[in-house]
Amino acid sequence: MNSKITLFFVAFLTLVSSAFSQKKEYSCANVKLKNKKLKSNTLTVAQIAQTERYDVHFYSLDLNMTNTSTDLSGTVEIHGTAREDLDSVWFELFQTYTISDLSLNGSAVNYNRNLSAIKVPVNILANESFVISVTYNGTPPDAATNPLGGSGMTNAFSPSWGNQVTYSLSEPFSAFEWFPCKQSLTDKADSVYVNVTVPSTCKAGSNGLLVQELDLGNGTTKFMWKHLFPIDYYLISVAVAEYIDYTVYANPVGAANPIPIQNFIYNNPATLTNFQTDIDETVNFLEYFSEIYGLYPFETEKYGHCMAPLSGGMEHQTMTTQGFFEKTITAHELAHQWFGDKVTCGSWADIWVNEGFAAYSEYLMLEHMYPGQEVQDMSTRHNNVMSVAGGSIWVLDSLNANTIFDSRLSYNKGAAFLHTLRYLLNDDTQFFQSLRNYQANHAFDTGLGVDVEQEMETISGLDLAPAFEQWYFGEGYPTYSAKWNVVGSDLIVNITDRRAHV
Ligand SMILES: [Zn+2]
Repeated sequence: MNSKITLFFVAFLTLVSSAFSQKKEYSCANVKLKNKKLKSNTLTVAQIAQTERYDVHFYSLDLNMTNTSTDLSGTVEIHGTAREDLDSVWFELFQTYTISDLSLNGSAVNYNRNLSAIKVPVNILANESFVISVTYNGTPPDAATNPLGGSGMTNAFSPSWGNQVTYSLSEPFSAFEWFPCKQSLTDKADSVYVNVTVPSTCKAGSNGLLVQELDLGNGTTKFMWKHLFPIDYYLISVAVAEYIDYTVYANPVGAANPIPIQNFIYNNPATLTNFQTDIDETVNFLEYFSEIYGLYPFETEKYGHCMAPLSGGMEHQTMTTQGFFEKTITAHELAHQWFGDKVTCGSWADIWVNEGFAAYSEYLMLEHMYPGQEVQDMSTRHNNVMSVAGGSIWVLDSLNANTIFDSRLSYNKGAAFLHTLRYLLNDDTQFFQSLRNYQANHAFDTGLGVDVEQEMETISGLDLAPAFEQWYFGEGYPTYSAKWNVVGSDLIVNITDRRAHV
């Protein structure tokens, strides 16, 4: 027997068995917790306030990378506009990078560097635009060398498929570990260009449209991506590996043209064959979510996946990074393009508007396409929520990645609460219209849990404050005891709210 075939067969079995045995733990929570940080970044509160004195409107990344290490070099431009008269511009870049050039509007300038905080003295009037350009090189931190743990950039080998990949994962606080930026949830760049030069055996995937693949003639190729939609710093991404491009098309109602779903799949004989049916399902998911949430937000560009050795996925805007293809994970990451990309949480305390909705989208996909399977899905979530007493969906410590991406609360209790709200509205037409209204009213911006409450109250006329007080901000869950008796033709039921867990 061909040893290569044997290897792939064993690898396939390993992958499939691990995928099934750990399915419910394979949410995007674990992926993000690998990246865990104990605080938002290295900036002080006063320094963060300094970064809020300007508005970022564009990032241009031009990087040199390989699939064999995380080492990188390149030039990044930050285009901003002063919100007030500025005597300095502040941004972040991890402290170990060598900066070979830093310029303001094309002229080299001096700067102060204190750990990862960079202060550029300027003289810019309110409403004036400026361009900071940073040329740098070095190695991103890894979990061992990073005082905060984790990393925004990882190089890893896929034991299942034998491919080596370098990929970014910046959520929640790690973008500055691979490019100079302002890490503010509420200040989205209006657009981003990502150019990545890689060995010509590789492809580099990123946000938006691949406008050019430029052979530089020295064994390297420059992949030039343009994304012309507002984007949060942590949704800007890159993945580099020996990929093949497998593109399929979705035709949701209302789309002007078929929407490409561009998949960068490991270049070996087995991976696409193994996952093709699952990848193709993305078409149906995109068409269904367009129906219930509104048309796919980035229809003029694309959706896509870049494979990387993750135990789940990360919803990078228009190009999810994903470890393997299984229907609930694929649906979850795709649903994030509406809830978590087009509309992002305005505060990490309200991660529910990202993760609770993506988790409930798994349920909705099953209900619509695999009727019957959604029952077990919700039951599993309820059991997980009730496995521990206490805990609210609203995140009490929003500087701690462990509490932000708590799968029991942000994901499972979050999905269960949406199911409860759907029950309280008792009208699916109103329920889904309220979600579309939330999407429309916060399009390419941010939202909070109370914004969802407001949309649902407006459409239903209900007062949902008690429900949000109890289930969103409140902790725990109620338990009931019931007694029944039959007297003649009467059934007498006595239900007591025990409130064992609060
Ligand atoms: Zn998620």
